[in-house]
Amino acid sequence: QATDTLAREGPSSPSYDWFQTDSLVTIVVYTKQKDITLDSVIVDHQDDSFRAETIIKDYSYLINIELSHAVQGDFSGLFYRQCQLISKEDVTHDTRLFCFMLPPSTHLQVPIGQHVYLKLTITDTEIVKPYTPVSDSLLSEFKEPALPNNKYIYFLIKIYPAGLFTPELDHLQIGDFVFVSNPEGNFKTSQFQELEDLFLLAAGTGFTPMVKLLNYALTNIPSLRKVKLMFFNKTEDDIIWRSHLEELTFKDKRFDVEFVLSAPISEWNGKQGHVSPALLSEFLKRSSDKSKVLICICGPTPFTEQGIKFLHELNFSKDEIHSFTA
Ligand code: FAD
Ligand code: NAD
Repeated sequence: QATDTLAREGPSSPSYDWFQTDSLVTIVVYTKQKDITLDSVIVDHQDDSFRAETIIKDYSYLINIELSHAVQGDFSGLFYRQCQLISKEDVTHDTRLFCFMLPPSTHLQVPIGQHVYLKLTITDTEIVKPYTPVSDSLLSEFKEPALPNNKYIYFLIKIYPAGLFTPELDHLQIGDFVFVSNPEGNFKTSQFQELEDLFLLAAGTGFTPMVKLLNYALTNIPSLRKVKLMFFNKTEDDIIWRSHLEELTFKDKRFDVEFVLSAPISEWNGKQGHVSPALLSEFLKRSSDKSKVLICICGPTPFTEQGIKFLHELNFSKDEIHSFTA
């Protein structure tokens, strides 16, 4: 037997039904929406509780079913599930690719451009920090699975030796757990509609939102003519996935990458310095006068703020700029 609650926000809530056999409970949510995708639905099953969240046009519809019990608790705020560390691989001297496995009864697909929160208990205090999931490689073909079978979630995370959270994360052993929240963020793939030129400005780990974006745009946007990444780092050793990026320029002629170093060794003959109007105006060349452009920017706060200011000075409009922030 099941008792249930349906928490809802928004003008009209989808109705739902369930039916049960000896081995299976099927829950059907009638959304009357055509554009429901797999990343609009998050499902978790923990102990006696089954939770299904459907995200439709900025509203979240939550079904929480407690088998044999009345539902208790607060359903606002972020929901966390425990994920197990499967592998950890060095990507640069201080940045690692972490792979976590979702619980077997969770369906969660983080939408492109969104982040989640990771939570660890550090000396009796819960610490939470945001991180942006990436794909396992830049070169793997972009595939949103047709079935809810994506069991892994990947992160590129820089370890700061004097940081609060990342040294603890780095100390996790294979098999250890971390809590992972629901996704958050305001990037929408509709910003890609009819897009012709995509410019990505990333600094340091500000590269992480660009990974899925790049993959998605090159695979799913037929109008796209040019995708250019300007990647700002301190030194060559700090560049995340440099060889993947260079390989991608050969694999897809629409893609180009330019590295800019703020603290290069003297032999570096590429671009140097911090983000500047000169660097940007040279880089942001449209494929045609009236082409539809989107510029995505992410990095340390001063980088992003200065970048946006320069973009406005170069006459790019608000709608043509998307910045990733907390
Ligand atoms: P912190 O304790 O925050 O310290 C960071 C550094 O600053 C350390 O070197 C520390 O010594 C120094 N520091 C701390 N306080 C001070 C101070 N008062 N004065 C001077 N220096 C100080 N990071 C990633 O690696 N990958 C991602 O995918 C990613 N995604 C993100 C998504 C979002 C939306 C946001 C907002 C951030 C994201 N970050 C990402 C950054 C991440 O959330 C953390 O900020 C980062 O991991 C540092 O956490 P920490 O607790 O280890 O370090
Ligand atoms: P970093 O210290 O290695 O710097 C990388 C480059 O950023 C530098 O080479 C420089 O070009 C530029 N930069 C750094 N400080 C600057 C300043 N004060 N003014 C102008 N330009 C500056 O960067 P990092 O340690 O990899 O940090 C990456 C940052 O990106 C973090 O602050 C992280 O929180 C942020 N981030 C945000 C998101 C998001 O909001 N969605 C996602 C990932 C990372």
